[in-house]
Amino acid sequence: MNVAKGMRVGVLGAGQLALMLAEAGKHIGVDVICAGQPGDCAASVATVVPVNLEDASDVAKFAKQVDVVTVESENIQPEVLTGINLFPNAHAIGVAQDRLLEKRFFQECGLEAAPFAPVDTPADFVLALAVTGLPAILKTRRMGYDGKGQVRIYERKGFAPAWDQLGKVPCIVEGMLHFDTEVSLIAVRGKDGAVAFYPLVENFHRDGILRKSVAPFLNSSLQQQAEGYLRTLLEGLDYVGVLTVEFFVAGNCLIANEMAPRVHNSGHWTIEGSDSSQFENHLRAICGMPLGNTQSRPMIMLNCIREMPPEQDTKLFPELLRHDYGKEPRAARKVGHLTFAATEARLVAEWQQRLERSS
Ligand code: AMP
Repeated sequence: MNVAKGMRVGVLGAGQLALMLAEAGKHIGVDVICAGQPGDCAASVATVVPVNLEDASDVAKFAKQVDVVTVESENIQPEVLTGINLFPNAHAIGVAQDRLLEKRFFQECGLEAAPFAPVDTPADFVLALAVTGLPAILKTRRMGYDGKGQVRIYERKGFAPAWDQLGKVPCIVEGMLHFDTEVSLIAVRGKDGAVAFYPLVENFHRDGILRKSVAPFLNSSLQQQAEGYLRTLLEGLDYVGVLTVEFFVAGNCLIANEMAPRVHNSGHWTIEGSDSSQFENHLRAICGMPLGNTQSRPMIMLNCIREMPPEQDTKLFPELLRHDYGKEPRAARKVGHLTFAATEARLVAEWQQRLERSS
């Protein structure tokens, strides 16, 4: 018997990740209710309850209406995450939302990371440079996403404008690495401690925004290395749900860049490419259901940035799977994605060019 059927999952947030969680919930009989604002895109498939996500009592009231709560973004005030039935737990989200805690945790768990040092005041920068050297990247500790909250520094005099540009908030400075490519690993851990992994995915960014993910990134030694790292992180955090880690690949080494305590853009291809998608497996994990099979087929995902391509164009290609989040066009905004079987490489190249022209 499936004990979790009919469970009510509350998502803090009602954007596209919540939307795709809600779609997955329909397949497995889990009701997804989102805390957001009227007009948020998850409203096309799920109930969206108006909640002020910065107000602990508002969030607590929402949490009482559901069996279990989860997040679609790590950028959420830690104060609102206490005292609710939350998966992944508040500590894990707290580590993932602060680049300094995250990098220290990577080191404790034996993962390689770029050299880094905290910068709380301009005076710290001189000491930090002794650790990282130049060129370096100044990154805000909190609220960084899609390349926001970071500035590259090539010479010492570049620090003052970078510090001003980031708003003089607590930062870390990181040594700039040379790497071959970027990959991510998505893992899921159930309440019983069972762990499953998807294949490594190769990710391509432009202007700090993910443009393309290609699955799988076939390298059995790196896959094994990444799975070992994720297992250590998941167990160290007593984690339940989907966890994503982004790595730089340098030769035979993986260098951890950041982790996301949630379903991830580089795993959207799993909706059509895997027996159980990242969204389904996240719900299964947090509802205490057995994890679904992560058996996967080669797929490519292209993000649609700013606006969706016209529907009359995409419908000419039945082999192209269109996901429109129903968002208003806006510069640098993820409004949807296209997924293709990897055998459609020529079609992917054509659509990649079209999407790049419009973003
Ligand atoms: P992040 O927000 O940390 O994921 O950074 C966005 C992008 O900046 C990454 O996907 C990399 O392409 C690049 N990047 C971040 N950190 C470094 C680093 N230490 N060295 C070189 N490139 C980096």
